[in-house]
Order: sequence, then structure tokens, then C-alpha cells
Amino acid sequence: MSNFLAKNINIHFAKELPRDVNTKNISRQVSDACYSLADPIKPSNPEILHVSDLLLKEMDQSKDEIKTCLGVLSGAENVSGFEPYAMCYGGHQFGNWAGQLGDGRAINIAEADLNGKNWKFQLKGAGPTPYSRGSDGLAVLRSSIREYLCSEAMHSLGVPTTRALSLVKTGDLVTRDILYNGNPKKEQGAIVCRVSPSFIRFGSFQIFAARKDNENLKKLLDYTIKHHFSHLGEEARNKETYLNFFEEVTNRTLELILHWQRVGFVHGVMNTDNMSVLGLTIDYGPYGWLEDYNPYWTPNTTDAENKRYRFGNQANIALWNLVQLGNALFPLINEVEPLQKILEDFRDTFSIEYKKMMAKKLGLYQFGNVNQDFIDDLEDHLTRSEIDYTIFFRELSNSKGTDFEEFWNTIKKSSYLNEQELVLHIEMWTKWFNVYSKYLSDENLDAGDRMTKMKETNPKYVLRNYMAQLAIDDAEKGNYGLIDELYQLLLKPYDEQQDMDKWYAKRPEWAKHKVGCSMLSCSS
Ligand code: AMP
Ligand code: MG
Repeated sequence: MSNFLAKNINIHFAKELPRDVNTKNISRQVSDACYSLADPIKPSNPEILHVSDLLLKEMDQSKDEIKTCLGVLSGAENVSGFEPYAMCYGGHQFGNWAGQLGDGRAINIAEADLNGKNWKFQLKGAGPTPYSRGSDGLAVLRSSIREYLCSEAMHSLGVPTTRALSLVKTGDLVTRDILYNGNPKKEQGAIVCRVSPSFIRFGSFQIFAARKDNENLKKLLDYTIKHHFSHLGEEARNKETYLNFFEEVTNRTLELILHWQRVGFVHGVMNTDNMSVLGLTIDYGPYGWLEDYNPYWTPNTTDAENKRYRFGNQANIALWNLVQLGNALFPLINEVEPLQKILEDFRDTFSIEYKKMMAKKLGLYQFGNVNQDFIDDLEDHLTRSEIDYTIFFRELSNSKGTDFEEFWNTIKKSSYLNEQELVLHIEMWTKWFNVYSKYLSDENLDAGDRMTKMKETNPKYVLRNYMAQLAIDDAEKGNYGLIDELYQLLLKPYDEQQDMDKWYAKRPEWAKHKVGCSMLSCSS
């Protein structure tokens, strides 16, 4: 059946880059290729649970269009005129080189031009590929709901991200051991159709560099620049363009981390195969949202010991990953200093931009005046008083900032400590507040204007882990209403939406140690 994807097919990646000559869909090492052909498996009883109207609109497609797409969005049918494929890449996992990884459970089902933009469509969880390394290539409902909702929520928060078009239940069961503790269970299978201008990762370059395959490394880099960084110069493929490319990836990555820090997002698995060269958030696994402020927090139980990917370490890890990308590109640049200079600037730029971002969250726009100690103290106090990151900044966006009693109410409203514990912190907060209100008065801004601006920086609603878990619990029982409620809520995370105030609340006590809420693993 013809559908909007088939009608708009325009293949770049698969046409311009080398394809694996072996067409057998079995796990193996793949060399000399950027991708391998792989067909999705047929689900037994597929059902579309949700579609992103927002993304459809951006693609200038009507909701009716999607009704003809169950086949292709569930993997039951191929998009006519397109041969599905899985991409080859490598990566460092938790700091160690892991060799070939690749799309073990993602299959590209279309490259299409829609509303003036070329998009790649990818089914996550549609069966094994040559990169599955013996695993099943499937995904379960819980992780698919999490990826689906969060991709679209991040976009509405203004955070660069891959998108999600649809959430499909396959009707098949998938066995998973959630906490890897010898308790496998059968869970419902699902597929998310992810969408992005490109799914190329740092690891896409690393795999060729590791294999000393400079020819394909260059092909992939030239392709990436031609299609995604064409402003760097259409034709000139030389050292200078490559360095400019690396500099831009570095800047985009820095921007991305600033956004994550601003909204309190912890990716959870910042391996180099999960880093997009477009600077998008990619591969939603055991991610989480800060509730009580804690730079040491990570939702990923697989990383509980070292906490490599903790909230406060995301910028350091981004830099570490950029060093790996720089190493991978080195054979095409052959000069250490300019690469090093770009990497060295990252740290300084990040600390300046981070301070600016935090000052903006506080409604302070004359960044130069803001003392570093003032920001450090805030972080220290937020941690000690176990303050909910989202609620604190949103409440602050509603306050005059001149009256300590009003401020203390904000602290009370956002802290997870009880009143007796909290009262011990009154002195430190008083000191901090005195500096804050002085800074605010120096700004000389109309309070109403400042509040409006602050609310554009500080979201009221984020996809707290327990919220996603409630939607998952319902969906596992066949009720999908909450998926839509959260989807709709998170389309406008900066709006008051007073009738939705129940989602503007601290994490409930029951969620503090519940699997799926505070504890997540890579099993999905
Ligand atoms: P992730 O942590 O989700 O980024 O996955 C790391 C690597 O494992 C990627 O190459 C995935 O494609 C692969 N992978 C994860 N889960 C599965 C699965 N169920 N079947 C096959 N490959 C998988
Ligand atoms: Mg991944």
C-alpha cells in the first residue's frame, strides 16, 4: 500500500555510502560498510498505541495518513521503494573500547523528504540485525513508552533530540531480566518509530578509525558534511573543513549538555555510540530527571558503583567522548594542535556558559556580576536541603525575590526534608537569599517581565520517572489513556496548565525506591 513515506522517498545515506555485500541477516563483524540490509520481523498482532501529532504536523501530514501506516510502523510491511537497513558503528562503553556495536535493534525503514526536510525513519525493536550480537533485537513496552514520551517531551522543552513518530504494540512477548538478578519475565513487545535527519554517532566514525579504514572514514565524513554541515563549504573537503566540522560538533555537544543541566536531565548511558554528531539527545534508555538536587545522581543501576554518567559529570563525559571523536578523525587531519585547542576550549567555555545558564534560571541576566561562589553555594544548599530542581526554579519564577518569608515558602514547598530537618538550614539560606535579592535589585528589571522570562527557562512539567512508570503500569494492563495525557501535558512544559497541577508536585514517597522510578537498568 502506498503511504506518505513511500510517496516521498529520497535516499541519501543508503545510496551514497558503502553497503555490506553480505545480505544474510546473522550476527557478525561487518567491514567496509556503513550499513547492512535487514528486514524487520512480522509482529503477530500489531496495534498503534499513540502517534505524535506534533511531528506529523511538522511533516505536513494529516492524522488520517497514519491510518494507512500500521504495516510499515510495525515492521509488517516494507515501505515500497526502500530496502530496510541497520547501521554499522562502534563505541566506547563505560570508558572501554567495545569494538563493533551497530544497530542491534534498530532498522531504518525509510529516508523521505517531508515538508522540505530529509528524515530517516527507524524502527526500534523490530527484530535482529547483523549487529545484534546474539540478542533478540526486540524492545519491551515499558522502555518504548519511555523513549516515545521523552523524545517528544524533550523537543517541546527546546532540547535537541531525535523524535518519535509512533508507539506500536507488537502483540508478541519478550523475555527480560529487568535488574539482571536472575528473574526473567515475559513482557509485552513494542516498537517506536524514531525519526531524525541523521542517526550518525561518534561511534560511526570510531569503527572505521579502529579498523584503520581511512577510505571509508573519509567517505562517511564527506557525506556527513555534505548533508548535515553543508554551510561549512559544499566542495572543499580538506583539513580545514574537517576541523570546522569537529569544532561545530564540539559546540553542539556543549549546547546539548547545557540544556540537559538546565532541565535536570540525566542521560544515563553516555557511551560514544549514544552520542549524535548532530548534537541531539539519542538512545533513551535508563535516563532520568533530577528530583532532589544531587550532582552524584544517576538513574542507571548498571552504573551505580562508579556513577560515571551522573548528572554533575555529563560535561566531563561529553568532553571525554569528544576526545574519542577527535582521535577517530585524526587520520584525516594529521595535526594535533588544532584538535587539542578545540578540546581545551571546551572546559572554559562550558564553565562560562554554565554559569550564564544558571544565572538565567535565577532571573539574573547581567552574568558578569554574578559571583561563582554564589552559584556553587546554591548547588551546595540545594543538595543539602534535598530540593526538587524543577519545583524550586519554577517557584522562584513566581516570586518577587525581595521577601525572605516568601523565599522560605519556596524552599519548604520544594524540599524533601521534613520541617524540623529543614529549619536547621535557615541560616545558610538566609545568607544566600540576601546576596540573591541584592543581585535581583541590581538587575533593575520589572518583576513581571523577569518572571515571564524565567518561566521560559524553567519548565513547570518534566517527565518525572514515576510519571512515566504510572503510564507504563496502566499500559501493561491495556489502558493507554495516561500515555496521551502525559504526551499532551508535555507538549507545553512551560505553560501553567493549571488543570494539570497534579503533575506539578514532588515525587511521591512510594516512588523513591521503586524499580522504574529511581532504579533503571539497561535491560529494555
Ligand atoms: P544501548 O545501550 O541501548 O545503546 O545499546 C547498546 C548496544 O546494544 C547497541 O548496539 C544496541 O543496538 C545493542 N542492543 C541493545 N539491546 C539489544 C537487543 N535486545 N537486541 C540486539 N541488540 C541490542
Ligand atoms: Mg545505543
